[in-house]
Amino acid sequence: MIGGGFAGLATAYFLARDSKLRIVVLEQEKKLGGHASGRNAGMIRQALTDPYLVRLAKEGKEALKTADRKGWSRIQFQANGSLLLAGGDSEKELKKTRDALRKQGILSHWLSRDESVSRVSVLGEAKFSKALFSPTDAMVDIKGLLQEFIHALKTRGVRVLSGRKIQALSRTHSGFLIRTAKQYFYAKKVVNAAGAWAGIVGEKANATVIPFKAYRRHLFYADPVKGFKKAWPFVWDLSHEVYFRPQGKKLMLSPCDKILFRLDVHKRRGTGTDPKMQQVLIKKLRQLSGSFEGLKIRSKVAGLRTMVPDGRFVIGEDPKLKGFYWVAGLGGHGVTTAFSVGRLASNLILGRKVDTKLARVFSPRRFVK
Ligand SMILES: Cc1cc2nc3c(=O)[nH]c(=O)nc-3n(C[C@H](O)[C@H](O)[C@H](O)COP(=O)(O)OP(=O)(O)OC[C@H]3O[C@@H](n4cnc5c(N)ncnc54)[C@H](O)[C@@H]3O)c2cc1C
Repeated sequence: MIGGGFAGLATAYFLARDSKLRIVVLEQEKKLGGHASGRNAGMIRQALTDPYLVRLAKEGKEALKTADRKGWSRIQFQANGSLLLAGGDSEKELKKTRDALRKQGILSHWLSRDESVSRVSVLGEAKFSKALFSPTDAMVDIKGLLQEFIHALKTRGVRVLSGRKIQALSRTHSGFLIRTAKQYFYAKKVVNAAGAWAGIVGEKANATVIPFKAYRRHLFYADPVKGFKKAWPFVWDLSHEVYFRPQGKKLMLSPCDKILFRLDVHKRRGTGTDPKMQQVLIKKLRQLSGSFEGLKIRSKVAGLRTMVPDGRFVIGEDPKLKGFYWVAGLGGHGVTTAFSVGRLASNLILGRKVDTKLARVFSPRRFVK
């Protein structure tokens, strides 16, 4: 397994649970979760427009909730719900979201302005014309989720090795030879769960070329605003493109920036922050409402969201390289769908029965010209 983010850990978890395969997870960084999986907003959002992503999000959310109840308590699953706001053109997207949720049997309902403000008082002066509340959306503690996966893997005898960057990967007559700076590994099957580096790892293996793009996004942590409650849903304003959620005693916010980050050009890790982004956030908040005036921002992080042009994940065996599997391109949904993606990927790797439509929609085969 190349990559120790949610894609790699969740897939390894199901493989270890459902087979007797000997699994090794190789992570380039010294610590796991150093990239997107440790630098995200932890929102469990089913309120999306793509019906296939909504399906995986629903299954992923259910699994997170169940795991939390059954002993993975560090997940801290908080069913606060989500409140999506729209105005002008973005109303169409909100209506599409509502339809997609209804088709999957996921609860959601329109709220009036007064109802929205009574749930989230900071919206008193906010500019929006439609509000959709999805009570089963949630939030989790991402560090806790990572720890639970790592603990479960170690308990099942999976070796999780950090500081092991894959430098070369070549096909042998019956598998793959994988070279890291410290040692060689031989594997019958390889899973590419390398997040923003998935395309680069694919290139090393001479696999199908998949047009991944990595976009940087910032998160800010601020002191609570007046009226702040830990029970607030996460609020996503589609027209001004800004979101916020309670995170412990703090308010987490994002300007929803989506700036292309070329790993091949920059030769950097994509975790540095851009000082200009704080101004972008403040400007967007001001457009939404005057109630954020004087917000005290204490810290910030940035991470890469990796996706392909159709916005759907890339899960399955490479069409030209037998034994080489992709679990990548999870975009902004890899926490929500960790369990459902891991289960689908593991079932495909083990040759188990899967929903053929779902497998086709996410297959890397769609990139073969
Ligand atoms: C700011 C931000 C906010 C987000 N908010 C949410 C949210 O609220 N809800 C949600 O569901 N999702 C959210 N996401 C998306 C989510 O974080 C990602 O979809 C998910 O973490 C991707 O997991 P991954 O395992 O594919 O990638 P990663 O977490 O990046 O893991 C890939 C790993 O592979 C390793 N690797 C790469 N190359 C090599 C190599 N050659 N050798 C060995 N290891 C290698 C990397 O070091 C990395 O640790 C957000 C993302 C960002 C950036």
